[in-house]
Amino acid sequence: MDKFHTIRLNIDFEQLDSDAEPSLRFYLRNFNEAYSTEGNDYTQKYNGVEFKPGTGQGIIEIPIANLQVMTWWLADNNIPIEHSAPEYTNSTKFELATGSAHHNGQYRMVIKSIEFVGHYISGEKLMLGLLVFWVSLALIYSIVEIRRSHQLILQAHFRQDHLKKLNRSLKEQNVHFAELANRDALTGAMNRHSIREWLDVNFEKEANTAKLLSALYLDIDHFKHVNDQYGHGMGDDILREFTMVVLSALSPSERLVRWGGEEFVVFCPGMELSEAAELAERVRHKVEAHIWVHGDVLTTSIGVASLGNERTNEMLTRADEALYLAKRKGRNQVTISE
Ligand code: GH3
Ligand code: MG
Ligand code: MG
Repeated sequence: MDKFHTIRLNIDFEQLDSDAEPSLRFYLRNFNEAYSTEGNDYTQKYNGVEFKPGTGQGIIEIPIANLQVMTWWLADNNIPIEHSAPEYTNSTKFELATGSAHHNGQYRMVIKSIEFVGHYISGEKLMLGLLVFWVSLALIYSIVEIRRSHQLILQAHFRQDHLKKLNRSLKEQNVHFAELANRDALTGAMNRHSIREWLDVNFEKEANTAKLLSALYLDIDHFKHVNDQYGHGMGDDILREFTMVVLSALSPSERLVRWGGEEFVVFCPGMELSEAAELAERVRHKVEAHIWVHGDVLTTSIGVASLGNERTNEMLTRADEALYLAKRKGRNQVTISE
């Protein structure tokens, strides 16, 4: 009975032999062991209301909350105060009875309809349901949002990583290209352009430093023969190998430059002519003693000069002249420009 809140009655009730408007009582009876005994109908509580239905009045709505316990029933059954309130916990039936102050006579009652009106869900349950619904919705939304954020963070990390890698490889490329600008592409030795600035700053007259500098001018003997005999590719390999062999005879302060073709210049800062001549001899010997990739013997001629009161280019010309002399004298030898 708890889920109903209203009773709708459509009843016509009239006294046929009088003009009096008769009243009617509507009872909802309740059984409770605290005051009811089985088999005794009178001990079931009378929750009721009295009203005048009239005829053709249509539906009368009675809120269940308006029902009251009949005082005569309370008195007759000695009901204690704690059980005197209306109660619908265990409603067993409803009843219609004539109202107070009725006289004998002819009556007519037509019951058109009796309805109990209630909610499918109680207000509390509805509130609870709504609460659960909204909390669940908020929870689901939060989880989705957290996941989305997590995904975004992962994506950001991925992008950051990717950019870092890209940046690193670009830096490496830059270093590589910067190196390339200063290096001969075939042999990896320094190129003429890269040595120029070093010479200008440290050894030209304007530098006014009066520093020691010697140069070894190297030219591979009969290199044309290598190309002719073993092909240009092998010639390239020999040029690389030659660079390696010469470098292995040098200390880090000495600079090996590919001057062009099969000609190289070694610049030796802080080195006197005699020392340079000794170095040239060591290089010449290393080349001669090396076992080359084409399996043939290879030699080099070397012209040596030291910087005097002159430009570095003049020293190089003298070294070249000394080299020419070495070739003339039969190659595979060191000649000094005094
Ligand atoms: P010499 O003893 O008089 O120096 O004889 P040579 O044959 O070494 O001298 P020459 O100047 O007649 O020939 C040099 C050869 O070096 C000619 C050229 O084809 C070759 N050469 C120059 N640069 C390269 C290169 O980068 N790769 C290859 N494979 N050969 C080169
Ligand atoms: Mg040459
Ligand atoms: Mg040559």
